[in-house]
Amino acid sequence: MNYIIMGPQGSGKGTQAKIIAEKLGLFHMESGKMLRVMAKTDKRIRNMVKKGLLVPDRETINYIEKHLTDNNAGFDNLIFDGYPRTLSQFELLVKWLRSKGKDIDYIIFLNVSEDESVKRLSSRRTCSKCGEVYNLITNPPSKQNACNCGGELFQREDDKPDTIRKRLNIFNSQTKPIIEKVREDGKLIEVDGERDIDVISNDIIARLKEKNVRHN
Ligand SMILES: [Zn+2]
Repeated sequence: MNYIIMGPQGSGKGTQAKIIAEKLGLFHMESGKMLRVMAKTDKRIRNMVKKGLLVPDRETINYIEKHLTDNNAGFDNLIFDGYPRTLSQFELLVKWLRSKGKDIDYIIFLNVSEDESVKRLSSRRTCSKCGEVYNLITNPPSKQNACNCGGELFQREDDKPDTIRKRLNIFNSQTKPIIEKVREDGKLIEVDGERDIDVISNDIIARLKEKNVRHN
């Protein structure tokens, strides 16, 4: 089974993907992290990441394939996090997986209201020295307004309310169409993302197990 986890910025999907991957023995396919690591050695990718340009879809799939192969992950038991973000990326991903005899089985959607997303993201603080990210509500530093490394914390431009609302609009216009498409196909698992981390992950796992039982 292959899954995609989706949710607006601040939905906690990275955290959930990690927990679910561990509990179900899935490979956590984190495309953003993959590209950031690649940017360290690949000048072209570095320039694209720096300029905020998107890596072309077909190219991203090639990198994902290489990343999965390098990690001996195969093309099954994957959870995609951060990719796809548009309907055309989703269709390309499905086409590529089908060429490997696999598919996307379910899409997990963490539903979080816009106000909650804004509240969570505007509580984010980044260390100016080591880059560690904290959240004043959910993951506060042990020292007040300072990183554990001693560095000063600041609010990134990305985490200010106006910028957050702009990013949420992009999510609604570009990523939501994937959710509507898979809802019609009966492949959507929609969960309330405004609960405690472990309540959400237990809910997701229970619902995935229920689906798998029904299909077997
Ligand atoms: Zn630090």
